[in-house]
Amino acid sequence: MNILIVNAGSSSLKYQVIDIATEQCLVSGGIDCIGQEKSTVSHDLMGTPKKEYEATYKFDNHTQALNVVFELLVSKDFGVFTDISEIDAVGHRVLHTGVDFTGSVLINDETIAIMEKNIPLGPLHMPANIDCIKSCAKLLPGVPMVAVFDTAFHLTMPKHAYMYAIPYEDYEKYQVRRYGFHGTSHKYVTGVAMELLGGENKRIINCHLGNGSSISAVKDGKCQDTSMGLTPLEGLVMGTRSGDIDPACLEYLMDKKGFDIHQMLNYLNKESGFKGVSGVGSDGREVQAAAENGNERAQLVLEMSAYRVKKYIGAYTAALGGVDCIVFTGGIGENSYDTRERVLRGLEYLGLDMDWDKNKNCPRKQNVEISKPSSKVKVFVLPTNEELVIARETRDLI
Ligand code: AMP
Repeated sequence: MNILIVNAGSSSLKYQVIDIATEQCLVSGGIDCIGQEKSTVSHDLMGTPKKEYEATYKFDNHTQALNVVFELLVSKDFGVFTDISEIDAVGHRVLHTGVDFTGSVLINDETIAIMEKNIPLGPLHMPANIDCIKSCAKLLPGVPMVAVFDTAFHLTMPKHAYMYAIPYEDYEKYQVRRYGFHGTSHKYVTGVAMELLGGENKRIINCHLGNGSSISAVKDGKCQDTSMGLTPLEGLVMGTRSGDIDPACLEYLMDKKGFDIHQMLNYLNKESGFKGVSGVGSDGREVQAAAENGNERAQLVLEMSAYRVKKYIGAYTAALGGVDCIVFTGGIGENSYDTRERVLRGLEYLGLDMDWDKNKNCPRKQNVEISKPSSKVKVFVLPTNEELVIARETRDLI
């Protein structure tokens, strides 16, 4: 069974075709800068040899971008199908469940209407997700589609963890609460960690560190807390997002800088984090290289972001009543030994006994234990696979 995975961001689109019988990825691609002057389409046809296609286009919206994806999927040189009817199902990554869904759902008119109602909870991503759903429904009439939500894994949080301490009636009326994001990634690595650990009631802290970053506290496979909130702005220091900040800074900065609330949120979402503090950029590798070349602000933001992760690990260890395993995933978590070392140094008091050489020489794209075999708390580097979670949920539902 061939499942097309569609993962739309506010101005990007990632896709894969997965043969769910073997769980092999047949095609993987991405499109950036949708709605801007120039979009790059990268399309990789897996197999030996791997065939790579890259070209620039101009897309006004996600529907136009998807049309090109469908052309590529059946193209003579880079296609995986002779006919588009060989797609058996589509799995869409959708940002927000709101309080309406408790897990993945089959897509139909009724579930689309609920997603449309929830657009205000994700005004940048939800319209793109819904556009892609509607376009695929037109391009593939009758093919079953499933929505897999980024917030769903976190819906098991207890109320005292997801509530904000605002007047209760506003929580009830507007559903203002912590939802959390990166749920498919947290779910995937939790599953792998549980298999590696064996046994029951394991307490796991997952650090998904990438362009966007979040951390989750999981007990016996169920999320107990997570660092992102109503939106993905809260929590860790990220590529361009500030993460946690005193909300009173907003009024102060708006006054000083003459910002309205939209400019202020743009500043915290797009101009802060690694980019804002370092002045170098948002890309983890660039900031790391600048820090190694002596750039003090780059060094500072790496220390700030690692310190924030360390604080959350402490908090979540307390919340879970101890910790059995810490997981690193995401572009930075999987690839930056320096970040992992900054986070983990000093956590020996929790029962960690690290193999620092293994951390430094950790092979890529493999599940690796970087703590010593004798360590009471296991530390794993686990490559995430959000698309596989979406494919599995799609198979299960159809
Ligand atoms: P993601 O959002 O999970 O795809 O992660 C992308 C981020 O990971 C980008 O900021 C990359 O620069 C960063 N990244 C990848 N490899 C490294 C590395 N070796 N050191 C630091 N950052 C990295």
